[in-house]
Amino acid sequence: MNYDVIVAGAGSMGISAGYYLTKQGVKTLLIDAFDPPHSSGSHSGDTRLMRHVYAGHPTYTKMAIRADHLWKELEELSNQSLFIRSGVLNMGESGSQVLEKKLIHANNHQIQVEILNADEIKHRWRGIHLPDHYTGLYEPNAGFLFSEKVVQAYRDQALLSGAQLLTNTSITNIETADESVTVTTNKGSFRAAKLIMSMGAWFGTVSHFINLPVRPLRKAVAWFEGDESLFDYNQFPGFTIGDGERSYYGFPSLNGSGVKIGRHDAGQLWSPNHPFEPFGYFSHDEDDLRGAMESFFPRAAGKVLKGAVCKYEMTPDENFIIDHHPHYSNVLIAGGFSGHGFKFASVVGEILADLTIQGKTDFDISPFSISRFANTLT
Ligand SMILES: Cc1cc2nc3c(=O)[nH]c(=O)nc-3n(C[C@H](O)[C@H](O)[C@H](O)COP(=O)(O)OP(=O)(O)OC[C@H]3O[C@@H](n4cnc5c(N)ncnc54)[C@H](O)[C@@H]3O)c2cc1C
Repeated sequence: MNYDVIVAGAGSMGISAGYYLTKQGVKTLLIDAFDPPHSSGSHSGDTRLMRHVYAGHPTYTKMAIRADHLWKELEELSNQSLFIRSGVLNMGESGSQVLEKKLIHANNHQIQVEILNADEIKHRWRGIHLPDHYTGLYEPNAGFLFSEKVVQAYRDQALLSGAQLLTNTSITNIETADESVTVTTNKGSFRAAKLIMSMGAWFGTVSHFINLPVRPLRKAVAWFEGDESLFDYNQFPGFTIGDGERSYYGFPSLNGSGVKIGRHDAGQLWSPNHPFEPFGYFSHDEDDLRGAMESFFPRAAGKVLKGAVCKYEMTPDENFIIDHHPHYSNVLIAGGFSGHGFKFASVVGEILADLTIQGKTDFDISPFSISRFANTLT
């Protein structure tokens, strides 16, 4: 056997898993089709929101608390700032059940939050324009992560711990036999006792081996010029805002970067090996985001300073997939992070390492089981 574990896909989740495995002495080979961090997957575009309070299954909040701890550790290890606690403000129409559920989870886990009405929000952050029937939940200890820097930091730490990384190497086939896994690439074949698959938007390329109901989506984001005295990260938080139909998320300006905004729902279906159109290819890339800026942040609706595209990979229920392969107990799958996975990349890496080494994790990962798609799997 060449390796204890092969990690297929060394992006957000894979590179983190690679670090937590090698840190514990596991002989690990990471394989990636690009050179992570890169802009062809799901982790590009500078920043990702990191918040702790979730409306979904309670396991998300528990995982976010552990992820936060691991982000601090990674900052110390790599001696750099990776997480800016700018606060995050979630805004939506009053009476939404989502807000109430978040409040319950916040109380259960002693996470500091403030509930603010529209007037209080507008008074506190003068750059926000909000209909009177909106309410906000503000999490002061939330903020945003520098996503490419995080991937680079885990890469550095994994390599320092002894991991091997093959970049610009595409996986073309996977086979299991005699309790081992053989991964074939354009640069040769590699064998290991165990395999972790963390291939983001490209699971479709290995559908012969695992056929997941994951839909990759093209997502556009843009940075808008605004009044820096209102929108700089020292005074303005990360945010999410929705009107029941459309939902957006965004980030304060970072040293003149402009306010970054993206849309969480919508997006264009994409398939591996098909063209991936750049920002601005569709006129609605900018128009849609500008509409939200004009409605909610009119003093940051200036010119577009930068635009980018990135990939989501959606499961039907928007919950992750973290589970063993339905037929092979030595293969773990981590995918379908549905546009909200990055904040958890640290703890997901740790969970994958725990499942690989000890065969168990302290977290309830039942909401992420593959069996919930039993009817659609082949
Ligand atoms: C615009 C945008 C905004 C987002 N905002 C947030 C946010 O605010 N907060 C948050 O928590 N999350 C957010 N997310 C989601 C988060 O970034 C993703 O959930 C996360 O990055 C997914 O990680 P991954 O490891 O599955 O994918 P990736 O990081 O893309 O890693 C997958 C890797 O697998 C490799 N790979 C694939 N196929 C092969 C193959 N055949 N051979 C070799 N290598 C292969 C790829 O090259 C890639 O490096 C956002 C995503 C996008 C696109």
